[in-house]
Amino acid sequence: MSEAAITPALRRKAARIHALLLKEYGAPRWTRLDGVSEMVATILSQNTNDGNRDLAYTRLRARFNTWEDVRDAKTDDVIEAIRPAGLANQKGPRIQQALKRITEERGALNIDFLAALPVAEARAWLTSINGIGPKTAAIVLLFCYDRPAFPVDTHVHRVTGRLGLRPENLSADDTHTLMEALCPPGAEGPFHLNLIRHGREVCAARRPMCEACGLRALCDFAVGRTADS
Ligand code: SF4
Repeated sequence: MSEAAITPALRRKAARIHALLLKEYGAPRWTRLDGVSEMVATILSQNTNDGNRDLAYTRLRARFNTWEDVRDAKTDDVIEAIRPAGLANQKGPRIQQALKRITEERGALNIDFLAALPVAEARAWLTSINGIGPKTAAIVLLFCYDRPAFPVDTHVHRVTGRLGLRPENLSADDTHTLMEALCPPGAEGPFHLNLIRHGREVCAARRPMCEACGLRALCDFAVGRTADS
């Protein structure tokens, strides 16, 4: 989606939706991890739910004292520790490769240098690591370094599509850039988290509860449904 297509009206709509979600759910809080820990946790969260991710992360931290230990461990031991997250045979080697790459490039397991880079540069560096896509990069940049990145998961992608904040055929990867442009400055964390909550509790994939939804007057999907009935 080109910058030209991001109209003032669309920005106003995004701001209104953010305000309504804040009114409905309040301002969410989150636990701040260091960048390397968040990166590992986010790799673990790929294609699984929060409970399985948390269990795998806790087991990994209990099994190894430091990220250096995870990096240098036998891959089978890492895979065994993270088994509850699913796809452990992929995620284990990915985590170790990412930790090795950071060490090779930075001399230590620390990615705090990202806080000082322009967002596009920081994102490009993170996504050059195998296994780190736009969502993981945005989560690390936003939640560890307060950078204006907007993570797009399956809930954010679905809800923004129904609301008409993005074109129907816009990919999740491209929706990151769009939402960064549309989001009221500084609201990326709360807006992202409240869209996820709304997607889980109200705007579910199979049966969105439009009648009970406080966003319906602004929602292209709900307006279309009403027009059809
Ligand atoms: S009105 Fe329906 S489709 Fe639109 S955001 Fe609410 S639940 Fe989702």
